[in-house]
Amino acid sequence: MTTLTLVRGDITRQRVDAIVNAANSSLLGGGGVDGAIHRRGGPAILQECRALRASKYGRGLPTGRAVATTAGALDARWVIHTVGPVYYAGEDRSALLASCYRESLRVAGELGARTVAFPAISTGVYGWPMDDGARIAVETVRDTESPVVEEIRFVLFDERAYAAFEAQVG
Ligand code: ADP
Repeated sequence: MTTLTLVRGDITRQRVDAIVNAANSSLLGGGGVDGAIHRRGGPAILQECRALRASKYGRGLPTGRAVATTAGALDARWVIHTVGPVYYAGEDRSALLASCYRESLRVAGELGARTVAFPAISTGVYGWPMDDGARIAVETVRDTESPVVEEIRFVLFDERAYAAFEAQVG
């Protein structure tokens, strides 16, 4: 059984086995969660990201996929980078957002991560409406069986995000 928990705070301050990064496909850093993870985690993370770009992901990490690196100086063993879809009202990209959560949990399971912290993927710079982003996040992790992951922790940056997730968890 996987336990779902909600906390309000900064994902880079969590002590967990794996921290999920709302990355972009370049894997070379960005703003929001991505910027905070690289700032606090230090250069070791970027170094592994560069190596991934030079090998398996020459064209970048596709939207909806996930890949792990070291967590550097963070209080975690791994960072799992996933690329959320940019919200666009003219096309339903929900399946890609769901895929981020599913693929991140798959990678977490392969690594043996028992505790995993997620941000609200795509709800920042990528513009996904918070209530819908929370619904997809909660539904998807509830539907994803993991024999390895014991705790999934959503780390919500502000009260609005926390309230949206709380409404979904019930
Ligand atoms: P995306 O590009 O996928 O939209 P962002 O990093 O811009 O990713 O934002 C994703 C969500 O994470 C937003 O709701 C944002 O408020 C939140 N966020 C930003 N910084 C942090 C942080 N340090 N810890 C947790 N959540 C954060």
